[in-house]
Amino acid sequence: MDCPQCHAQDVIEIRHRLPDGSEVHFFSCHKCEEKWWDRDGTQIDLSQVLEIVRNSPR
Ligand SMILES: [Zn+2]
Repeated sequence: MDCPQCHAQDVIEIRHRLPDGSEVHFFSCHKCEEKWWDRDGTQIDLSQVLEIVRNSPR
């Protein structure tokens, strides 16, 4: 995975399982500190992640 901002390959990837069962990947670039989320291959932002968490039944 390359950073979409600076194209560095020095990117951390962390997987999260959301309460609705979907899996998202959190990426963080060491070089430019860009952070982003990916769900099913689609880039989403943090507010969308939080919305999934908020809308999930407990
Ligand atoms: Zn970067």
